Amino acid sequence: MTEQPYKRPRRFIAGVVCPKCNEMDKTVMFTNDEGDEVRECVACGFHQTYAQHAAEEQAQQELATRVTPAGKTVLDEGEQPLKIIGFGTVDPKQK
Ligand SMILES: [Zn+2]
Repeated sequence: MTEQPYKRPRRFIAGVVCPKCNEMDKTVMFTNDEGDEVRECVACGFHQTYAQHAAEEQAQQELATRVTPAGKTVLDEGEQPLKIIGFGTVDPKQK
């Protein structure tokens, strides 16, 4: 038995585009010494642990959910209740 410390099982991930050089099907995934899954691009050398990738995606999702609802819908819905409240304050005098 020969120990080969640098030969870890690597598998290519089909259809994955490298975020750095935009090459497709150049990304391999393997597990490092800490047990983290690591993506590495064989074309440009870009590598990222799964934890880093997950943190990055979460940050992007939080940005997206904050921007979209606040920018569009809130303005439209905000105007309608104002008219209804104004109409309601006139009503009691008529009764
Ligand atoms: Zn790359």
